[in-house]
Amino acid sequence: MDYIYDDQNIFAKILRGELPCNKVHETEHSLAFADIAPKAPHHVLVIPKGPYVSYDHFARAASEAEILDYTRAVGEGIAKLGVGPGDGGNGYRVISNSGSDGVQEVPHLHVHILAGRNIGPLVVNQP
Ligand code: AMP
Repeated sequence: MDYIYDDQNIFAKILRGELPCNKVHETEHSLAFADIAPKAPHHVLVIPKGPYVSYDHFARAASEAEILDYTRAVGEGIAKLGVGPGDGGNGYRVISNSGSDGVQEVPHLHVHILAGRNIGPLVVNQP
């Protein structure tokens, strides 16, 4: 594994308190906050507090405690929005972009939780 983490990325600055965020949920290892440019009525980002670049980096290198905490934090973020089918909601989409083909802008792992409208097709362009 050869992942290089840039600690000057925007989400690292949010975690250090150098930039503000609109916090939705926080745990020992994870933070959920509103996306600054929402693409849906509900648009929440969930990040681990550790220095992980992408989903694959996190899944391969994080501790079991971090992975458990993060997975639960995503669930809590969805629960707080009240959009899960189990809560009577209309559903949501969870997306994690990685690298250039994934069109990742911020090189710190995050999942997007999008909800509040029909989110549309998985991707716009065909293969
Ligand atoms: P991605 O393309 O998956 O890396 O998405 C990065 C997301 O971070 C975009 O949806 C941005 O709107 C969002 N974003 C960028 N800066 C901030 C910020 N300071 N606070 C909250 N969200 C941000």
